[in-house]
Amino acid sequence: MKGNFPVQEFERLTTPFYAYDIGLLGRTLQTINESAHEEFFCVEYAIKANHNPVLLKQISAAGLGADCVSGAEIKRAVECGFEPRKITYAGVGKRDDEIILGLEAGIGCFNVESLEEIEVISQIAAKMNLVAPIALRINPDIDAHTHHYITTGLAENKFGIAKEWLDLAVDKVLSLPALKLKGLHFHIGSQVLDNEPFGILCDRINEFQDHLESRGIKILSINVGGGLGIDYDHPDENPIPDFEGYFEMLRTRIKLRRGQSLHCELGRSVVAQCGSLISRVLYVKSGVNKKFLIVDAGMTDLIRPALYGAHHIIENITASNKEEDVETYDVVGPVCESSDVFGIDESLPVTHRGDLIALRSAGAYGEVMSSGYNLRSLYPSYYY
Ligand SMILES: *Cc1c(COP(=O)(O)O)cnc(C)c1O
Repeated sequence: MKGNFPVQEFERLTTPFYAYDIGLLGRTLQTINESAHEEFFCVEYAIKANHNPVLLKQISAAGLGADCVSGAEIKRAVECGFEPRKITYAGVGKRDDEIILGLEAGIGCFNVESLEEIEVISQIAAKMNLVAPIALRINPDIDAHTHHYITTGLAENKFGIAKEWLDLAVDKVLSLPALKLKGLHFHIGSQVLDNEPFGILCDRINEFQDHLESRGIKILSINVGGGLGIDYDHPDENPIPDFEGYFEMLRTRIKLRRGQSLHCELGRSVVAQCGSLISRVLYVKSGVNKKFLIVDAGMTDLIRPALYGAHHIIENITASNKEEDVETYDVVGPVCESSDVFGIDESLPVTHRGDLIALRSAGAYGEVMSSGYNLRSLYPSYYY
């Protein structure tokens, strides 16, 4: 066994496949529950990060809610044991049939992203003789120059309702009998490693609350969204993100009113470190000035490097070389795209055809973003 991987088991399997460290997921969930122990915390898992049923069942069993972005995700969440009242449905483009599905399932909240959507949900709920619980996703318009990695909380993008329209949106929801105003929802972006952007969001939320209160409007819940980042460079040293610091910051910086609940929607930080993509080396190809490891996993199996320029730590998990026998390789996939590259100038033990490599920290936005391009497919996942 090398590192934490059951390499001998892996040797028997057909690659490429995802391997999930279920024990690590369990410890991560325990840390979340201990760090957010107060009644008012409602932690939801953002299913879009990974909708694998094995993981979902473990996450629902730990008591988390689910943040869904499609009707199919709502269905999957219910099938995997999430209580409907702990399910939130978000997204800028909800179809009528998905709204109906959410209402029929009795989900806890619709996070609404436009004035137009408020009308549509109201009409559908009225026709079904139901009252739809609504949170308004407000775009907090946090300064991009201070925090360049905040990409979804800026003034002009497709997400959320402009903060200038907060009053208009609130009044609209309150005027429609088929809607119940539950709260305000925010989300500033993803892979945020510094707590301060969340702190700035908290300050902004306090201002919104003060303003609404001055108008005599009470809200029941605040939802700060997701986005907590993970340490892609040190998966073994930092397998579990700093949930304690994150929840402590929320606890101290948001002025929660009596009886209010504080929701968050964590995706990546829950599942990223427990997943690895396991692949076999097909060829060690000598270029003119370079050596390439051509592996049997590609961008169709893990698209983050090609899509965002992301880097996942690459390890040879079968090489038995001594430490000093290292070589520099470009690690590439078999797909007919020049962006199908996992790493440039990777320093690895001298590697041979048939060796297994692990692409670490791939549990979030990995398996779920795989595609059938080139008619490729992944092999069944492994759990250990
Ligand atoms: C993507 C998304 C999340 C989860 O983001 P992570 O970075 O994976 O934590 C939560 N809320 C909303 C609204 C999202 O779009």
